[in-house]
Amino acid sequence: MQPFQNEKAQLIMTLRGMGIVDADVLSAIEQVPREMFVARALQAHAYENASLPIAMDQTISQPYIVAIMSAALQLTGRERVLEIGTGSGYQAAILSFLCRRVYSIERLRPLLVDADNRLREIRVTNVTTRLGDGARGWPEAAPFDRIILTCAPPVIPDMLLNQLKIGGIMVAPVGRDRNQQLVTIRRSEAGFEEATLLPVKFVPFVED
Ligand code: SAH
Repeated sequence: MQPFQNEKAQLIMTLRGMGIVDADVLSAIEQVPREMFVARALQAHAYENASLPIAMDQTISQPYIVAIMSAALQLTGRERVLEIGTGSGYQAAILSFLCRRVYSIERLRPLLVDADNRLREIRVTNVTTRLGDGARGWPEAAPFDRIILTCAPPVIPDMLLNQLKIGGIMVAPVGRDRNQQLVTIRRSEAGFEEATLLPVKFVPFVED
């Protein structure tokens, strides 16, 4: 039997109960071993529907929020996705099952090194990472079909909006500490259209 199989099944049921219906997203959550993305001491909690601390005062998001954000990206398997905030690499691993390629930027080297190692270990080969300031985006690989932020800026940097394709979707937490909302932004010929999903609590998007 796979490790954590019961806990995993329980989590999927919880997410379904909370309204997550996207079968591809649920399947990705089933396939990614979340216990590998947290410290050994927290592994027993890996399949609780809770955010958990990772190194350097950062957090791995609650599975429900990972599911909501992944579903909101409306991926078909063909997209190139930019992620700001690699952190543990968990969200990137989930996306790797749902799109063609993930480009993920992290500003803290120790986190990035660990994330790269984990992704290699679980044989995820379509995630490319880089160390840097996410506010600049990834100009050489732009424009992107989708962009996801896993850290919250007070307002979305223009450089990132400009790297979203026409027809593309961005999902991001926006706002300061106690006042963040998860938003989706769709880009069309006419401009950017924003919709609010729910209040959230993410670590801040740090501008270097
Ligand atoms: N997606 C991650 C969540 C990690 S928390 C996961 O699944 O584990 C958010 C991450 O954003 C932190 O690791 C933090 O260091 C990073 N971050 C914050 N501001 C950033 C910036 N300007 N550029 C790149 N990464 C940033």
